[in-house]
Amino acid sequence: MITLKEALTKSAEELDALKIEMEAKAKESGLNAYIGFESSGDGVPILIKDNIQVKDWAVTSGSAILQGYIAPYNATVIENLKAKGFAPFGRANMDEFAMGSTTESSYYGVTKNPYGENRVPGGSSGGSASAVAGGIAIAALGSDTGGSIRQPASYCGCVGMKPTYGRVSRFGLSSYASSLDQIGPITQNVEDSAILYDAIASHDQKDSTSSDLELVSIAQNINPNRKLTIAVIDNYIEEADGDVQEAYATAVKALEEAGHTIIHKTMSNTKYDIATYYIVATAEATTNLARYDGIRYGNRQEGSNLEETYLNTRALFGDEVKRRILLGNFVLSSGYYDAYYLKAQKVRHLIRDEFNKIFQEANLILSPVAPSVAPKIGSLQDPLEMYKSDMFTIGVNLAGLPAISLPIEKNSEGMPVGLQLIGKAFDEQAVFDGALSLEKAVNYTK
Ligand code: GLN
Repeated sequence: MITLKEALTKSAEELDALKIEMEAKAKESGLNAYIGFESSGDGVPILIKDNIQVKDWAVTSGSAILQGYIAPYNATVIENLKAKGFAPFGRANMDEFAMGSTTESSYYGVTKNPYGENRVPGGSSGGSASAVAGGIAIAALGSDTGGSIRQPASYCGCVGMKPTYGRVSRFGLSSYASSLDQIGPITQNVEDSAILYDAIASHDQKDSTSSDLELVSIAQNINPNRKLTIAVIDNYIEEADGDVQEAYATAVKALEEAGHTIIHKTMSNTKYDIATYYIVATAEATTNLARYDGIRYGNRQEGSNLEETYLNTRALFGDEVKRRILLGNFVLSSGYYDAYYLKAQKVRHLIRDEFNKIFQEANLILSPVAPSVAPKIGSLQDPLEMYKSDMFTIGVNLAGLPAISLPIEKNSEGMPVGLQLIGKAFDEQAVFDGALSLEKAVNYTK
């Protein structure tokens, strides 16, 4: 598949032909990465996760409860894309309501990893990553609440970037946990990631958490020769398995040879990130998902009275979504609110402070994305085991930081291993500069 940069030089006719080719290839691939092939306007086709509104397209967050719901307006990121010569093309599969790490919980069935069809592509933006890595999409948008862009990119051997909280508008993104969610690019390489990030980042009055800090084009200023100070978190790497440790060693060596300065740091045990995230995220999710009542959106399962209609309709949620609604209601209920929710908010501040302390000395942090390569389909049955696999990604969302995941090497079974570079809030430039340098230094080949 041509890169995004190359696609920007193609004519409208060439791009139309490419869309037809992509649709045919996607259907033939058996990856189940696309769940629809709608097209909106002319331009470079960008695959869109099923939780971002594109006017007149179905938008269902991978859920039975939203079947039949058509988006009445464009998300701000979609308006931004269209204004810059890109065209939303195709719907990407995802875990129901972006809750998950494997893309196994979708109403549309399991998505597969192009590197091994018995492997998950990661989640929740698994359709986006599988399509980009599988050569059936040029680039895609995903959303990252606790790792859902970076982790599938790592499992599929492509590049996934989570912007600073507030840098990309959430208007028109179906909310999972509003204080953590960010939309971001999934691409074939770092340069494409910068181009797509530039296209979607903006200040938006329709999102009260949107930042009005000045935006400068990253792609125009990207500099892989800039020398950076990069912190490695020694106690993190101990928690990852052998494949990830090897990739980490490769990356550290490559960064040193490229002239960057490596410093060694430790951070608090990731068990605190997991506990904090699963309290904050489920509390916010419970509140956000209260709107799906059979009256306002999509699917309605009529009962003999209002309460029965609510109950019948909400029974359409899948198991993982129900589990999180229960957890969220529990941590917010009187008597438990202080013990769980308030405490989690305090720990969240401590996590942010810990990152900021490291950023007083370092431009970037190098960290694993996931503790292992992509697991086999069906192997993560225990929800707690699944939650644990988020240990390296969720701190970034709790602290609102930008981070990019890129492929480093493959393990002995040919499965890709990615690592992430984390930056200071609003320092996307350092994140992309470091990532381009690392990409060149490790020279990962598909
Ligand atoms: N795996 C995490 C969760 O299930 C992250 C999901 C996401 O980033 N949307 O909540």
